[in-house]
Amino acid sequence: MTHLTLQAVTKRFHTAYAVDHVDLAVPDGKLVCFLGPSGCGKTTLLRIIAGLETATSGTVAFAGRDLTHVPANQRDFGMVFQSLALFPHMTVAQNIAYPLRLRRVAKDAQAARVAELLELIQLPHMADRPISRLSGGQRQRVAIARAIASSPKLLLLDEPLSALDAKLREAMQVEIRLLQQRLGITTIMVTHDQREAMTMADEIVVMEKGRIAQVGKPLDIYRNPVSEFVADFIGLGNILPVTLDGTDRIALPGGQQIIVDGALRAVDATGDVRLLIRPEDVSMRAVMVNPGPNVLAGKVAFIRDVGSSLEATIDCAGFTLTAATTPRETPDLRVGMPIFAELPPHACKLIAARTAH
Ligand code: ADP
Ligand code: MG
Repeated sequence: MTHLTLQAVTKRFHTAYAVDHVDLAVPDGKLVCFLGPSGCGKTTLLRIIAGLETATSGTVAFAGRDLTHVPANQRDFGMVFQSLALFPHMTVAQNIAYPLRLRRVAKDAQAARVAELLELIQLPHMADRPISRLSGGQRQRVAIARAIASSPKLLLLDEPLSALDAKLREAMQVEIRLLQQRLGITTIMVTHDQREAMTMADEIVVMEKGRIAQVGKPLDIYRNPVSEFVADFIGLGNILPVTLDGTDRIALPGGQQIIVDGALRAVDATGDVRLLIRPEDVSMRAVMVNPGPNVLAGKVAFIRDVGSSLEATIDCAGFTLTAATTPRETPDLRVGMPIFAELPPHACKLIAARTAH
């Protein structure tokens, strides 16, 4: 069932479009990420859904009810802001109870709910701690407990993990995702971090300049991005300019011919075209075993070996390629050595080049 529906939602600040004709359906019980670079309109769109911002035009409906003109405090949504916006002078329990107090929930029911939420966020003994004496991860959990205290129908999170260091951030991503699944609460989370979106989301909405660039399951978007912008934003990619001669012949900048499965169907051959191949799909060999159009001769220019994974930058004639593997698979790789990079036709995708603005 579709829970939240946006139709042609637009927000103009003076003459600039922060959100530009967004149509979207968010299904019941799912976690959807709004993903895109800073300034692309993620926060504005989330605030319109929350009722904290009024759309210039378009409609917001929830469970079949038009909410476009319903004020934020009557929408029954929970929200966690980038700043968390906890009340520093209150204790953990007082923070969590705040939305219940606003709703004039009876004192003992408030206490029971707070106790339940403290268990849920695994901070059962911290009820009386002041916020100032919590770690970053603990504050994060309290902000989420407060947002879900009155059992909202929709949870809205705006970059809630951005203040945390990398390791804690990754742990919290898993924690929030598991909590969201356990509660089955429909959630929209804003992030500019593609890895975070891929870790947590059922569906990713990639945004570019106020518009939706692509909507899909994380791996579908990763494997089949619709444009250079999306390909570049989601994951590491080799994005190479190619020339098409009108038939099925595709050439790389150095002139080498490339064969691509399902060749030209996906793109408009009259526009500029790029070849996308993900680093993990490029295989490296020290000797040429399989001569053919998709085998490129190059030289290893740089190796990033972090133990669990290895990335090699390969200088080919006229362009560079990144190949990803593991140190165990390629123990003899050295900077400066000649290498053959193979680009399997099934892993090569043609996409439309980013249009200049
Ligand atoms: P994101 O969250 O993706 O970084 P925002 O939604 O915050 O992007 O902003 C989208 C665009 O709208 C930006 O260009 C921003 O400068 C502009 N914007 C956001 N809020 C306002 C405002 N209150 N007044 C004027 N411009 C705004
Ligand atoms: Mg933002």
